[in-house]
Amino acid sequence: MNVQGGTAENAVRNYRLFIDGDHAASESGRVIERHNPATGALVATWPAGTAKDAERAIAAARAAFADRRWCGLSVAERSAVLFAVADRIRDNAAELARIESLESGKTLAQATDEVLWAADIWRYAAGQARAQHGDSHGNLGDGKLALVLREPAGVVGMITPWNFPLVILSQKLPFALAAGCSVVIKPSELTSGTTLIVASYLSDAGLPAGVFNVVTGYGKDVGAVLSAHPAVDVITFTGSTATGQAIIAAAAPTMKKTVLELGGKSPNIVFADADIDAAVDAAIKGVVLNQGAECCAGSRVLVQYSILEDFKARLLEKVRRVTVGDPLSPDSTIGAIVNETQFEKIKAYIAKGRAQNTLLCGGEPVAGLPGYFLQPTIFCDVRPGDAIATDEIFGPVMALIGFDTPEEAAIIANDTAYGLASGIWTSSVDNAIWMARAIRAGIVWVNTYLDLPTEVPIGGIKQSGYGRENGRFAIEEFQVLKTVVIQDSRAYGKYLG
Ligand code: NAD
Repeated sequence: MNVQGGTAENAVRNYRLFIDGDHAASESGRVIERHNPATGALVATWPAGTAKDAERAIAAARAAFADRRWCGLSVAERSAVLFAVADRIRDNAAELARIESLESGKTLAQATDEVLWAADIWRYAAGQARAQHGDSHGNLGDGKLALVLREPAGVVGMITPWNFPLVILSQKLPFALAAGCSVVIKPSELTSGTTLIVASYLSDAGLPAGVFNVVTGYGKDVGAVLSAHPAVDVITFTGSTATGQAIIAAAAPTMKKTVLELGGKSPNIVFADADIDAAVDAAIKGVVLNQGAECCAGSRVLVQYSILEDFKARLLEKVRRVTVGDPLSPDSTIGAIVNETQFEKIKAYIAKGRAQNTLLCGGEPVAGLPGYFLQPTIFCDVRPGDAIATDEIFGPVMALIGFDTPEEAAIIANDTAYGLASGIWTSSVDNAIWMARAIRAGIVWVNTYLDLPTEVPIGGIKQSGYGRENGRFAIEEFQVLKTVVIQDSRAYGKYLG
């Protein structure tokens, strides 16, 4: 990477691919320019990788795996590399957060939290690298011993989105490396900077060449090659459900395993016996965090009718305190929408909401700001089945839906193609437990929301995908089980005294 122009503050960063331990240009010579969505300024360039670049990276990863350059090391040695990267991420949090903010439009405060969380995930995976073990069976009959070995799955292709670039990388990469896999990643074409910086950290920490490779570029050019290539054993993908479906189809002929973290339309359900102020705060956070570009966004807020008017009043009062503005300013709660396409998509949903529902507040771009800024937007009188209650909008848009009974709330909550996250606000243990069991989703929060300790798994069901990240199960996505059954025909009895 080189840094061009002006002061460090406004420099343009020019990145290169990272293949087989070296930074290199794409064979095409083409680059993608990234402009800050808050200002329009050019902030970075990275190569527009091609199928040939992807094939070269896959070959490097395959060779590293075949030579056992990484998986042949002890888990203590692998763990040490992961800990070193965790420290580099933490020590460079300010720089990494600024890069994430400039590329994605998210606030610097939000980006800083994410970078520190990413460092924590690397530390967790570094510890887990040494704790992994298989099973043994010594009671299968005389002379018979069986071992269940956990072996690295091979070459892993990773494809990541733009909304949490470093965190999502960190939910995949250190676990795959802990397992002993080699990796080729294609980050989002909108936010590739921090992935390439992590490549340098890994290299500095002693990761052998070829074990981690980064090919920046578009999904159709690079992601599609990773998904279809016979030398890739696993694809782990985070992104939209539509792209996830394309990846499954591309992966099918080679029967590679896919791990898919996809979209959501999560319900945040508030009962009359809840701490209403806490629920209102969480409902707002659930749609404004990261400008609503959050797979677990609580975009459907279900409120018991008996408190609906009170809830609306408090919501209106509190949402006024949300500040949309310069992502680098500590006063901003919401930054810029990532690009024009996403900005227009959200505005189109707001137009549908205006046609079908009642606008409670927001609904407009923010006047006087140069980039893609939108007011937090709340619709009420929303019915299940309305456009804004059905589709993932990925913007700061809330759909308020009324309900009477827990049974009705569960039916509405589950009436979606997705099954990622959900929230329940109640002071009744019975209600909490009943709802937590009734809701079909990978995550249920009770009296909290968007609360994701590194120790617990994240992932969805239904069209939100399958597989799990974080927690002790994450590493298993990158391992294969091998059973070894050994029969010793000699008798033991007479020798054992
Ligand atoms: P996207 O699906 O458009 O793109 C994601 C990645 O896939 C990008 O790197 C893109 O270049 C690549 N891609 C696009 N077409 C491809 C193809 N045909 N083959 C292979 N790769 C291809 O998603 P996005 O807009 O970047 O991200 C937003 C989506 O991500 C939302 O739907 C959101 O819910 C989801 N998401 C899910 C989680 C989760 O954990 N479940 C987390 C974050 C984001």
